[in-house]
Amino acid sequence: MRLPLSMVAGMAGYIAKNKLRPNPEWQKTVAPPKDPANPFKIVYTHVSSAADRKPHPMINKRFPLVLMLEPLHACNLTCTGCGRIREYENTITQMLTVEQCLKASEDCGAPTVSICGGEPFLHPKIGEMSNRLIERGRNVILCTNGMFIKKKIGDFKAHECFFLNVHLDGLEKTHDLCVERDGVFKTAIEGIQIAKQAGFKVMTNTTVYKETDMDEIWRMFEMLETLGVDGHTIAPAYGYSAVNDREIFLTRDDIHEKFRDIDRFSKRFPIIDSPIYMEFLKGDRELPCTTWGSPTYNVLGWKGPCYVITDGHYKTFEEYMTQTQWDAYGPGNDPRCEHCMMHTGFEPSAAVGINSKFTDSFKNLSWLLS
Ligand code: SF4
Repeated sequence: MRLPLSMVAGMAGYIAKNKLRPNPEWQKTVAPPKDPANPFKIVYTHVSSAADRKPHPMINKRFPLVLMLEPLHACNLTCTGCGRIREYENTITQMLTVEQCLKASEDCGAPTVSICGGEPFLHPKIGEMSNRLIERGRNVILCTNGMFIKKKIGDFKAHECFFLNVHLDGLEKTHDLCVERDGVFKTAIEGIQIAKQAGFKVMTNTTVYKETDMDEIWRMFEMLETLGVDGHTIAPAYGYSAVNDREIFLTRDDIHEKFRDIDRFSKRFPIIDSPIYMEFLKGDRELPCTTWGSPTYNVLGWKGPCYVITDGHYKTFEEYMTQTQWDAYGPGNDPRCEHCMMHTGFEPSAAVGINSKFTDSFKNLSWLLS
């Protein structure tokens, strides 16, 4: 099975409950109506016109699935594709306390917490934070560049619902180029070996850029298989407005081309991206953006509208849910969204069944059991 049964069952129950009885407070939209003179309005070739679009009923039943928790933005690396270290330069020395993180998780209620950043291992209480979130019944995915696993693994407890998620964008030469430092790949691999020997679940996350060689990713997954890695996520890069070098990022057509063989990967390796999201990446299915499913919390508050675009920070989760002008975002609504196919924007649509087909349940089940 690709994911622990308790995690899958818990998520399925949570989705069913929220689809039946969504929190009425989160469905209110107090934001002003969309400005008809929106300067971002442009013509799109891959989506129908706004008048022709029929929103799925679930699109207005908003609830969070995965909390993207950023306890700090400081990092020991300066990766080429990272927007955080640039966008949050002024607050790079600040960090959330463990209590603030636990409160954010309670306020939001999402069953899964993805701890990211910055480099979370630089937080002095990252072990306590992860352990206490797990004690509260959360699935915890701790995203890391892997440089500090060896030093800090003793701060964590292995658990069925706790994953170390190590960033790897290719084999040694490529990865070290992406993170702009020699030796990072070797240290991350050593960290993975140590974590696996200590009984931890380990997955990897890979971002695909224009220059990414998918055959190399295949070879990397073969190598990771020999280390007993439990799963992989793989997703296209998003062109952050905070990142200057746009050349490395992909258009939608580029993404379809890069991911056209993703089924072969998924049959061979424990890819954790859902089959519906993979169809979206291949260009076989349209999904709307439902980024309310993956809210981001950091030192400035609840980041709106999403993990990648920042138009503001809200003090409370309620404000984030009710004051974000949701229908102003997504492909066809805002040009910054045109080429976005990020997990955080579209996996929630797949999870709650927007644009679902009759065969989806079978597809999801066979993928989970394979
Ligand atoms: S499509 Fe959604 S997730 Fe992507 S940039 Fe736009 S609002 Fe954010």
